[in-house]
Amino acid sequence: MDAQQNIQLFNNAAEKIFGYSADEILGQSITRLMKEKFRANHGNYIKQFADSDIQSRDMISRVMILAVKKDGSEFPVEITISKISINGKKEFTAIIRDVSNRIAFIEKLQHKLNTDNLTGLNNRNYFDGQLVEISQQYKRFGHTFCVLMFDLDKFKMVNDTYGHPIGDKVLQEFAKKTKQVIREVDILARFGGEEFIALLPNTRLKAAKEVANRIRQRISQQIVLSQDHEPVTFTVSIGVAEFSPHDDTESIIKRADDALYRAKNSGRNRVSD
Ligand code: GH3
Ligand code: MG
Ligand code: MG
Repeated sequence: MDAQQNIQLFNNAAEKIFGYSADEILGQSITRLMKEKFRANHGNYIKQFADSDIQSRDMISRVMILAVKKDGSEFPVEITISKISINGKKEFTAIIRDVSNRIAFIEKLQHKLNTDNLTGLNNRNYFDGQLVEISQQYKRFGHTFCVLMFDLDKFKMVNDTYGHPIGDKVLQEFAKKTKQVIREVDILARFGGEEFIALLPNTRLKAAKEVANRIRQRISQQIVLSQDHEPVTFTVSIGVAEFSPHDDTESIIKRADDALYRAKNSGRNRVSD
């Protein structure tokens, strides 16, 4: 690019990435290749760079930089820009890297990091992060919330009687049906094994217990078919706790777990607080 940011050279790889031939794009402003919202700032950015002592730098931005192809489609890029002066005239070179594959890979990893394979629910890692966030909101704004702790009843017997794959099917069915009872804003996660946990934002204890009971009933009506097409039934015990001013992320889980223990001890297929 020249000092006015008009394109002077467009190599083969650039033609391939952007879909323009060099003939089409030479002499045009580099901003043609950027997503519109990045264009306005570009002049300032380049001027700052041109006037600085730095010879080369990475264009880092808190947002991902998006470039635009000839066909209008957008893709994420990484850009390193450098400058030289030839006979007092400034020239700029931008090395533009298409990072779509890398970004897609990162997104896939992020999804994997937060997801339980068997049920497709969020996993404990994700839940822990959400719990930290929601308890901060409680401290700041007083937004109350409840934690539900679930444990399938006598689940070992399901495995022992019908086999592990049927146990897996029960876990999947539990996840699916429970999701149908809770709201979109509620977070349901597999905590491990046959234990699940839920976060109910803006919910008081009484309402949370009602939700828990609806789940419990829904689950007790559910059947999964065994390999011999016999109906397999299952139940769940649920502990409920409402976050209080004395709580932190550990104590609220402990209290929900204690409540679950009481639900188990009072006969299973129960909700307790
Ligand atoms: P309780 O009512 O006291 O909770 O009895 P329980 O049999 O459910 O409790 P226990 O902790 O003894 O057994 C849990 C069982 O869950 C044992 C374990 O093999 C099974 N389990 C854990 N994860 C999985 C899984 O991913 N798939 C299957 N099929 N079974 C699992
Ligand atoms: Mg258990
Ligand atoms: Mg159990």
